[in-house]
Amino acid sequence: MALCAALTVAACSDDDTSPWYGNAPSSDGGVDAALPDGVAGSSPDAAGSGGGAGAAGAAGNAGASGAAGAAGSAQGGAAGTGGAAGEAGAAGSSAGGAAGTGGGPPLPTCDCYNGNGLYCGAGVSAQAPGKGCQVDLLPAHDGDVLRCTNSVWTVEETCADGCFVAPAGVNDYCNSVVSPDGYAMPWACGATYKVTQGNNSSFSHTGKGAWAWDFGLPRHTPLHASRGGTVIFSQNLVGPGDGCYDGCTTDACCTTCANTVNRVVIDHGDGTAALYLHLDQATATQGATVKRGDMIGYSGISGCSFGAHLHFQVQETCGIWWCQSVQMQFVEDPNLADGDSVTSQNCP
Ligand SMILES: [Zn+2]
Repeated sequence: MALCAALTVAACSDDDTSPWYGNAPSSDGGVDAALPDGVAGSSPDAAGSGGGAGAAGAAGNAGASGAAGAAGSAQGGAAGTGGAAGEAGAAGSSAGGAAGTGGGPPLPTCDCYNGNGLYCGAGVSAQAPGKGCQVDLLPAHDGDVLRCTNSVWTVEETCADGCFVAPAGVNDYCNSVVSPDGYAMPWACGATYKVTQGNNSSFSHTGKGAWAWDFGLPRHTPLHASRGGTVIFSQNLVGPGDGCYDGCTTDACCTTCANTVNRVVIDHGDGTAALYLHLDQATATQGATVKRGDMIGYSGISGCSFGAHLHFQVQETCGIWWCQSVQMQFVEDPNLADGDSVTSQNCP
């Protein structure tokens, strides 16, 4: 918000002030009930399983002293004392008694990272000097994912295609090579947003929208194709000042606006298409071919939406823009669930 003073009024007015924003799941509850073009639809079966899987805990589970010992000896310090030194480091300062008795280089301790998640070696190398950690040997692991357990770094995963340094507070992870038929997050590489409603949520992801995802994107966030294909719909039905452009607060509004919504649909050529819904503006050219990562529009709150978000679903191709959604996974997190934050690997 602080930046808004320097921006145009139009840009700042896009800031969502709905009480729903960032709290309750963003709603697009009416879209399932009202179908375009007078097509009779599915009954709004409301049975939902409500997915909120808890975040996995990060507790290290390897034998503590054993792991410390192994890491210690690997660094060329006195092998026999590596384990003990690691334990001492866990309790003491980062400069702790880590030096091996054999006069080798100091063991790379990581007190300041203890229990704080996963880091690429490159990320540690960049951050550690400011934290006071000893990281002499970590550049060798720039492309690996590391975990700090009992004050000693361990290699959590060796990355075949390098390591992605995520924003502060988000675990780093191995880069993925997105296959041509895979799906990446539909926003800019490296940006992180939250799932505000997952699959089969009784709030509004039922019926044709059962396998949809809602992501908490602020208004006017650039959208990038999750997967390439042919743009079969790129429709701006409403603009600034029009009804249904600024979302809804009532069910009656949703009845009116369910179909009056800006959207893009990209046909993947295999019987499926991706729907990007509630846009401020669709910028893709209808009929054009797009690659994964191409910009296709800006997120918004148009149509039956109670808060700024992107509704995304992969659906069967059925000749209109609203079709039966199908189960799918994103490359960034195959187990994505309601409430998760996810960082886009939709990278050039
Ligand atoms: Zn939705």
